[in-house]
Amino acid sequence: MANDYEALAHANISIRTALPGPLATARIQTAKQHMSPSLIHVYPLMVARAAGCMVEDVDGNVFLDAQAGVAAAATGHCHARIVEAMTQQAQTLVHICGTDFFYPGYGELCQRLGAIADAFETQTTGKASGWQSFLTNSGTEAVEAAMKLARNHTKRSAFIAFQGGFHGRSYGSLSLTASKAKYRRNFGPLLSGVFHAPYGDTDHIENVLFKRTVSPEDVAAIFVEPVLGEGGYIVPEPAFLQRLRGLCDKHGILLVFDEVQSGMGRTGRMLAAEHFGVVPDMFTLAKGLASGMPLGALLARKPIMTWPAGSHGSTCGGNPVCIASALTTLDLLQEGLTENSARMGAALQTQLKTKLASCPQVKEVRGLGLMIGVEFESASEANRVAQTCFQRGLLVLECGDKAIRLSPPLIITESQAAAAADIFASVTANTA
Ligand code: PLP
Repeated sequence: MANDYEALAHANISIRTALPGPLATARIQTAKQHMSPSLIHVYPLMVARAAGCMVEDVDGNVFLDAQAGVAAAATGHCHARIVEAMTQQAQTLVHICGTDFFYPGYGELCQRLGAIADAFETQTTGKASGWQSFLTNSGTEAVEAAMKLARNHTKRSAFIAFQGGFHGRSYGSLSLTASKAKYRRNFGPLLSGVFHAPYGDTDHIENVLFKRTVSPEDVAAIFVEPVLGEGGYIVPEPAFLQRLRGLCDKHGILLVFDEVQSGMGRTGRMLAAEHFGVVPDMFTLAKGLASGMPLGALLARKPIMTWPAGSHGSTCGGNPVCIASALTTLDLLQEGLTENSARMGAALQTQLKTKLASCPQVKEVRGLGLMIGVEFESASEANRVAQTCFQRGLLVLECGDKAIRLSPPLIITESQAAAAADIFASVTANTA
C-alpha cells in the first residue's frame, strides 16, 4: 500500500484514453441514474484512487490535482501519517458523541485551535481571549453554529453578509450566501433579517444599510470571508477588514471570519486573518481542517461562548476519526506545510503571471499562498480553459463569474507547480 502511494504520488501526468475513458463512461452513466441531479460534476472524472497531488481515474489516467477536492485535501491525498492516525483511531473508538460524552481528541483539538487563535490575537492586540470551539461535520454547520451563537449571545437577530460570499447551503448559511442566484432559486423563503453589502464596501453598510434598512443595534453579526472563495478568490484591501472591525466595535456587532476555505494554511498562513492583522470574534473552519474528512469548527472568544448547556449540539460533529485526521493535519501544517503553501503559492503565482502576461483574455492573476485565482474576460473562456486543462491532465475549478481557482494540496512540489503553470498557460494560449 505504501509503495502504491509512493508510485502514484511521484507519477507524472499520463492521459492514456480519450476522456472520459471507457470504464469511466460506463460507470458515470450507471451512477447518474441513481444520484441526485443537483450534484454538479464539472467534468467526467471518475476517481479510483489518489496519492499526494496525483489522482488516478478508473481507466488508469493520472491527473495533477490543482483543486484538492475543492481546497480540502490540505495535506494531499492519503498522506501516510493521516492514514496511520485515522487507522489507529478507527481501531480504538469510532463514535461515542461529543455532545454527550468526553473523549480525549475533542478537547485536545479544541485546545490546539484555541492556542492558534490565542497566539494570533496576542500577536495582534497584546491580549488573548482564551478561545473555545464547537465541532461540526461541515462548513455549513460551523456557519449555522456561528449564527445561532451570535443571536444567543447578543439577543439581536439581524445579520450582514456580502455579495459574492459563499457560506454554505443549509437554510441559515444559504441566507448569507450571495455568490450565485441558482443556489437560492426555488428554495425560499430564506431566513429573514439578512442584509447584503458589496464585498469590500463598508460605506454601503454605514450609508445605506444602517440608514435605510436595518438599525445597527439589531445586527447580531457580520459574516465575511477574509479572502473571497467561491465568489472568485478575491483578496480585499486590508482596510476593508480593519474598517469592519471598527464598525463592529462601534455598534456592539460580532465579527465572524468564515475561513472554511481560506483557513488551515491555504493562504500561506494558518489563518488568512493573519495577513490583515484583524482579529474577529469568531472563526469558522472546515475543508482543510481534517484534510478532507468531514469536520468543521466554530471558534469563538471565550466571553462570547455564553450559550448554555443543551442549547446546541451534534451527534457526529467532532467524530474521533475525523479529529485524529485534524490533529495530524495540524502537526503537518505546523511542521512546514503552511510555509510550503506560502513558498509554492508565491512561485506558482509568479509563474502564472509571467506565462499568462501575453494572453489578452486573462484579466488578472491574484491570490495569497495556494489560493490563486485567474480572472478571464468571459465565463465561456474560463470554462473552456477548465475543461481543456482536464483533457490535458490538470484538475482545476471555476469560481466567481469568470475565474478559475488553483488550490492544490499544500504539499505541492516545485516541479508539480511548474507543470501546473505550464499546462494552464499553454491551454489558455491555445497552444495545447
Ligand atoms: N464557507 C465557505 C467560505 C466555503 O467556501 C464553504 C464551501 O465551499 C462553506 C462555508 C460550506 O462548507 P461545506 O461545503 O463544508 O458545508
